[in-house]
Amino acid sequence: MTFQNTLECAQELDAADPLSKYRKEFHYPQVNGKDVIYFTGNSLGLQPKCTQKFVDDVMKDWRELAVEGHFYADKPWWDYHERLAEGLGKVVGAHPEEISVMNTLTVNLHLLMVSFYRPTNKRYKILCEEKAFPSDQYMLQSQVKYHGLDPKDAIVEVKKRPGEHYWRTEDVVHKIKEVGDELALVLIGGVNYYNGQVFNMKTITQAGKSVGAFVGWDLAHAVGNVDLKLHDWGVDFAAWCSYKYMNSGPGNASGIFVRQKHLGKKDIPRFEGWWGTKKETRFLMQPEFDPIETADAWQLSNPPILSLAPYLASLELFDEVGMQALIQKQQNLTAFLEFVLYEVDKEVESTFEIITPEERGCQLSVFLHGEGRAIFDYLMKEGVIVDWREPNVIRLAPAPFYCSFTDMFNFGQILKQGILQKSA
Ligand SMILES: *Cc1c(COP(=O)(O)O)cnc(C)c1O
Repeated sequence: MTFQNTLECAQELDAADPLSKYRKEFHYPQVNGKDVIYFTGNSLGLQPKCTQKFVDDVMKDWRELAVEGHFYADKPWWDYHERLAEGLGKVVGAHPEEISVMNTLTVNLHLLMVSFYRPTNKRYKILCEEKAFPSDQYMLQSQVKYHGLDPKDAIVEVKKRPGEHYWRTEDVVHKIKEVGDELALVLIGGVNYYNGQVFNMKTITQAGKSVGAFVGWDLAHAVGNVDLKLHDWGVDFAAWCSYKYMNSGPGNASGIFVRQKHLGKKDIPRFEGWWGTKKETRFLMQPEFDPIETADAWQLSNPPILSLAPYLASLELFDEVGMQALIQKQQNLTAFLEFVLYEVDKEVESTFEIITPEERGCQLSVFLHGEGRAIFDYLMKEGVIVDWREPNVIRLAPAPFYCSFTDMFNFGQILKQGILQKSA
């Protein structure tokens, strides 16, 4: 249907939306006595109502069974993490054995680099995007230094072209070819946190492999947001956090993907712990490490059950709805938001610019000219939760599970008011 910047149009779009019923499955913060319009699902997803029960169940088992819960809880703790593999496999396009859940994102990227960044005299460079998420930059620099190399030499950043707000796939591929047989690893954020760009992961993965490098992806902003086919694309490894689009709760556990062909190997360099050794022999407490034949071989410790419980709860919702339906809605909703923004922009005479390219998931980054910070403050006060990135960018991520078309319309009206007031 053609969009109009009216409440009626927004309500019609909501009525036609098969996912609109999921809105009531989430808890919303309140501002001025009303549910907020929540645009920061790319930072911390809302709490699904079903989460509480999953956590309560673990608390009850711990209370009533104590140590026996490891084996006799309803969902026994010793293999609790295995329950997430199948659902996550569907979300990221992987076989369940290629998935594990453990630690947090930056930790996992470090652990995976132990296996997949093994610099030699000739092949030691890492290719990433310029201005990667800071944690990723620190991680890459410290890894390179750990191997006695100089980050200035070993880290190759792909830049945007002057005056452009996004990376071109051809520039990434060109750089990969240029570095060629010096390239040890390609490691990029699959969806850029700042401009919301979705990298062409398939093409870039192929290019990296064609020069003999390993290819890994940080999927923090990609998982639960865009279409992923990690297995089919031939990705070597990936990791993601679960608290953004996957709604698992603050600081919660991270997922990893390790390509099938790297599994079941004893000779792969890896930091190891007892939860990575085979279950059948684990409790014989013997000195020899016998890796599980799945990505769980990268697990070190026994899993944090109280963290996995909310992740499992959220994953059941993802399983019920399916990524295809989420992506479909996300595209419609983001398109409507873009339309509303341009309509407002016409009415207030161009005070902002969308810097997100067409290759996008569920995020529009808006560069505000002029009174950016004041407009941000106004939005927050009016119950629109957005986030602010220096120098003058607000990021809007209308997560398809719990944001509505009516939210987008109402946001447009509030934004217009804010701009008119602040520039008056
Ligand atoms: C959110 C995010 C992180 C967060 O890392 P943690 O280790 O979970 O704190 C890392 N990298 C990227 C690209 C992110 O977007």
